[in-house]
Amino acid sequence: MIDNMSIYPNKKKSPEKSRQNQNDWRLFLRLLPYARRSVGLLVVSMFLLIPLGIANSVQPLLIGQAISLIRQEPSVYEFIKNRSLYEGLTIIQGLFLITIIIKLLLTGYQGYLVQKLGQKITAEIRKDLFHHVTSLAVKYFDRTPVGKLITRLTSDVESLGDVFATGAVGIFADLFSMLLIIGFMFSIQWQLAILLLLILLPISCLIIYFQKQYRQANYKTREELSKLNSQLQENIVGVNVVQLFRREKFNAELFRETNKKYVAEVDTSIWYDSAVSSTLEWVSLIAIAGVLWVGSLLILRDNLSFGILSAFVLYGQKLFFPLQNFAEKFTTIQAGFTAIERVIGILDEPIEIKDKSNPRLSILDNQFCYIDEIIRDLEAQNFNTAPELGEIRFENVWFAYKDDDYVIKNLDFIIHPGEKIALVGPTGAGKSSIIRLLCRLYEPTKGRILIDGIDIREIPQAELRRYMAVILQEAFLFAGDVKSNITLGDNYTLEEIEQAAQKTNVADFIQQLPQGYDTQLRERGTNISSGEKQLLAFARAAIRNPQILVLDEATANLDVGTEALIQQALNQLLIKRTAIIIAHRLSTIRNVDRIFVLKRGELIEQGSHEKLIAQSGLYSTLHNLQMLGT
Ligand code: ADP
Repeated sequence: MIDNMSIYPNKKKSPEKSRQNQNDWRLFLRLLPYARRSVGLLVVSMFLLIPLGIANSVQPLLIGQAISLIRQEPSVYEFIKNRSLYEGLTIIQGLFLITIIIKLLLTGYQGYLVQKLGQKITAEIRKDLFHHVTSLAVKYFDRTPVGKLITRLTSDVESLGDVFATGAVGIFADLFSMLLIIGFMFSIQWQLAILLLLILLPISCLIIYFQKQYRQANYKTREELSKLNSQLQENIVGVNVVQLFRREKFNAELFRETNKKYVAEVDTSIWYDSAVSSTLEWVSLIAIAGVLWVGSLLILRDNLSFGILSAFVLYGQKLFFPLQNFAEKFTTIQAGFTAIERVIGILDEPIEIKDKSNPRLSILDNQFCYIDEIIRDLEAQNFNTAPELGEIRFENVWFAYKDDDYVIKNLDFIIHPGEKIALVGPTGAGKSSIIRLLCRLYEPTKGRILIDGIDIREIPQAELRRYMAVILQEAFLFAGDVKSNITLGDNYTLEEIEQAAQKTNVADFIQQLPQGYDTQLRERGTNISSGEKQLLAFARAAIRNPQILVLDEATANLDVGTEALIQQALNQLLIKRTAIIIAHRLSTIRNVDRIFVLKRGELIEQGSHEKLIAQSGLYSTLHNLQMLGT
């Protein structure tokens, strides 16, 4: 959706323009629920605009009255006319003082309230965005660079916050002031009022035009900023590869290009922004000159008092000042609209993989009924063994990442409780895709996957992932201490953590760390070796006591010493659990119950090591090749 908008419509096409206007409204409406949550703040801050607007627009009038009073002109108001000059001036000064006090007191307070409101709204939006982004299906992240997302979560939300922080919401105050000023002007001298309005109208149109241009330029600027951030992020995350392959120069060149484009877009938006301020600057001067010219003609013909002319000169200034203010804030508001558009683009991204609103059964419930039923049966038969859980069944599963490009084709198999299965096959055969489907990071295009007889779509995701632990080739560690990297935010006692570490041979290593279980690990775990990381990942799995264990090349890149430790930990972990193991080195999977051989998404052979060797098929070829290599 965002991408459609990134190429902005050609200026001349009116349907596109109306779409943009519609969008503005739609975007504005989307903000309403957030504003509604802080309705008290909103009402008070808007209400304060009324006294502020009145105080502001009454000042020129008072100055005009003072001049008229001194010059004894007929335009003096009745309630001052009948008093002495001293008294009249004191009343006017008193009123002027009140307007100043109102402005002094309320401007600051109103600004404070609006900013507070803004911070509340942006914090809510940021919270919703974070929650939404972390719930999106993995598929979304396949097509969205992380840098782009980060830009939306940080700088776009910030632009939105700026709308409030810079007082741009005061645009309502400006509009209100302008309306009051126009009203006052018409009440005292309609000819001059019309003159000012005639100047005001075309200028407003010009400014609206500039603003539209600015908005388009600003959207492009933000798109370029996203690209810039994506590139930065890629280069920083992949700095090892960048340096190893001496890509610094090449990448710097790519970055220079993106940077150049970004600056060009920023220049365009600055140009339109400056155009607005400068146009207003000279137009307000022209307006005052016009008022003086027409006003002096009227004075010469005795149709105007000097006091009213002075009031109009001041009104001329005041009328354009809110407009200037308005234009400046409009820029921020336009940037804010761009930001909301992009933020909402993410919020509107559907969460493809959702829990059913009424999951038919949870695995755990099922476990209990299953156990109950079986125990009843067993008791009836006077038999006394516990049932085994962890059956995995693929029923005619087809899967494509995009369109009809199937990477998994008609997979149909059952893995029995407690069985150990190895997936082998050339790179790209679909091994990892099977795992992703099983964990429901993606959903099958056709067919079903069942665990203990329940379709995984019926199982709440949290439960599914608790029931099944996945250990990836490269364990991901979060910034935080060892403890929290094992518990991952779930509630476990220190004792349980220690037990899990003990079981997975990582307890000794943890004890050697400076603060034991409280030692801080860096993001992505760069301060520990990959073998140790892997052991921590095992502990993470062990503590959850999953029924099914999935190992994605978990023992692929380890040194011999750690490998022995890991193998031992693994053997422990595998007891009484169903396991699927992806392995490149066929020597590590000789003892599994069955080996599934995949080729281009199809299961072409299956059976024990001996059986497959005897078959002389793909497995035996791969095996012989590896034997030659070692
Ligand atoms: P294996 O684990 O056996 O090496 P994968 O399951 O990773 O194979 O990949 C199977 C096929 O799916 C490959 O052709 C790969 O290019 C493709 N593929 C993997 N991940 C994605 C993805 N995120 N988007 C599109 N295609 C993908």
